[in-house]
Amino acid sequence: MAERTDSKQATARAEQMTSDEHAATLVVGADEDPWTPDELEEVRTELLSDASRLREEISDTETEIAELLKSGVDGGGEDPADTGTKAFEREHELSRAASHRETVLQIERALQRIDNGTYGICENCGNPIGKARLQAFPRATMCVTCKQQQERR
Ligand SMILES: [Zn+2]
Repeated sequence: MAERTDSKQATARAEQMTSDEHAATLVVGADEDPWTPDELEEVRTELLSDASRLREEISDTETEIAELLKSGVDGGGEDPADTGTKAFEREHELSRAASHRETVLQIERALQRIDNGTYGICENCGNPIGKARLQAFPRATMCVTCKQQQERR
């Protein structure tokens, strides 16, 4: 009996340690302190809430697009300028939905990277992204240098 209780407590301790160690093993900048479990949890919570907000916006946008498409079909014989405006609006909503979807994918990738321990490593050059940068932009997948190079392209 006593043995079983001991091993259960040991398991609980081991799990706690794993989660603490996990945060501390993530790569940070040379002059930065390791992640604490609380800091990591904060970033994870932000990512999750951003993702659910964006998913709502995507579904709103899709509703608007559907309405624009419908009014385009119904509005036979309307002013050509009006048709042009609607096409423009539709284009705008479509690109907004696409960019939101891209962002959600980025967030999902960041969450996976937290879980598999590669969070904080630049996907392009393998250098640390830096904890401060990730706390400001939790879904960043590249270090500042690589990001700037990509934007210049
Ligand atoms: Zn880089």
